[in-house]
Amino acid sequence: MSGKLGRRAVVIGAGIGGLAAAGALAPYFEQVDIVERDVLAGSAASRTGTPQDRHSHGLLAGGLKALDEIYPGFSQQLTKAGAVAVGIAQDVRYERGDVGALPMRDLGISIRGATRPLIEAVLRNCATAVSNIAVHSGCRVSAIVPSPRGADVHGVHIELRSGSSKTLEADLVIDASGRGAPTLMLFDALSWARPKLSEVGVDISYATAVLDIPDEAPTWKLAITLPSPPTQPLNALLLPVEGDRWMVTIIDYGAPGQLKTWEDLLAAARRLPTPSIYQAIRHATPPESLSHYGFAASMWRHFEQLPRLPRGVLPLGDSICRFNPIYGQGMSSAARQARLLREMLERVAAEPDPIAAVQAGFMAEIPGVVEAPWSMSTRTDLAFPTTRGERPENFEQSRQFDIALFRAVIADPVVHRAMVEVAQLLAPRSLLQEPHIKARIEAVAAKAMA
Ligand SMILES: Cc1cc2nc3c(=O)[nH]c(=O)nc-3n(C[C@H](O)[C@H](O)[C@H](O)COP(=O)(O)OP(=O)(O)OC[C@H]3O[C@@H](n4cnc5c(N)ncnc54)[C@H](O)[C@@H]3O)c2cc1C
Repeated sequence: MSGKLGRRAVVIGAGIGGLAAAGALAPYFEQVDIVERDVLAGSAASRTGTPQDRHSHGLLAGGLKALDEIYPGFSQQLTKAGAVAVGIAQDVRYERGDVGALPMRDLGISIRGATRPLIEAVLRNCATAVSNIAVHSGCRVSAIVPSPRGADVHGVHIELRSGSSKTLEADLVIDASGRGAPTLMLFDALSWARPKLSEVGVDISYATAVLDIPDEAPTWKLAITLPSPPTQPLNALLLPVEGDRWMVTIIDYGAPGQLKTWEDLLAAARRLPTPSIYQAIRHATPPESLSHYGFAASMWRHFEQLPRLPRGVLPLGDSICRFNPIYGQGMSSAARQARLLREMLERVAAEPDPIAAVQAGFMAEIPGVVEAPWSMSTRTDLAFPTTRGERPENFEQSRQFDIALFRAVIADPVVHRAMVEVAQLLAPRSLLQEPHIKARIEAVAAKAMA
């Protein structure tokens, strides 16, 4: 084992979670094999396994930081490849119909605007530059194979492009397949009960256009119009991406494809509760086509509530939790989960069964990574009466706190910074409950009442 935890780790899926997880695993296994069902292009290109990649993908500062820790130099490479540096909040129009626009203050925090295919291509380059990571593209994992003894994983069964198939033995299998189907099928094969599922049904539809940035562009670089519950679900994102382009996404409720043409999208932009995005795009050269996507529900599979997992398998990224994408948290959560995996691998070397210890440690701490983005996004969604899902007991109180927070952010730079750190997944949510922040939020509320 040459000081390592095992001979081979297999990662299912070369998406953001899979590529990040491979970097976390590489120091601890002799070989890390990423198995991806799509045939991957050498450059940034959209693909069938990630149909969401035609839509705006914001990478939060917390996700960028995690990827930089796993692959030092990632953000520089992304910038070199054409990503746009965006200062939070000095370059951002961040607006809500009911409360207004946030001030564009310099908080010393920046993100990168890029298409999802570029983010993935740069991450893939980082992964393949590591000598013991290999990406096998055009190979579908048809099953995680249990050992004859039962609840241990033996490896994965792979279907190759040639039509043949084989089994790859593995000490640890990371399921970063997006839906977690291989892990759930393993549970079924072992006759284990599947984990409990939390679901918040939103039934939103995405329409996205890619535009050349017009000459008379505004001074801000990125604009967000947030949904304003309980009555205004229409929201939008304008993201600068490589090649001097904007990705403009309008999100509404109902079936995808309702905004069929550029004129439909412009008309929807005009209906947004704040005008910045419509003003910016109304004279842009119309794109040839729009992309559409329907998203039914946020889902959290509570693997962490199970007494244990089959030994040798770990779901990660969307396989554990799929967030409503309008809040831009999925890639960053996957990256932060991969960083948690690395921390666990560091900790368990001296354990008698390090693989079982990694699984147990990761699952014990996964709520600490997933809970904050889950509750921030579902809380806004659940404020719409049409959203399906259980409202927590303190729901109305939390909603009132969110509104008071937003107002305090406008008035007070200290609260603004704290909110941005939490929303960008750089600081825990408990920061907003700390006495010095709470006092500032209350002071703004009291002044408004006076
Ligand atoms: C419309 C939309 C917009 C979004 N916008 C944002 C955003 O702004 N910001 C953000 O952070 N997130 C966003 N997301 C979420 C983000 O795309 C995901 O959270 C993120 O990609 C999760 O990464 P993952 O690695 O878990 O899964 P994915 O990136 O989906 O990767 C899964 C990979 O596994 C492969 N695969 C699946 N099954 C198999 C198999 N059996 N064998 C081999 N390979 C397999 C797939 O081909 C794919 O490559 C958005 C999602 C949607 C739907």
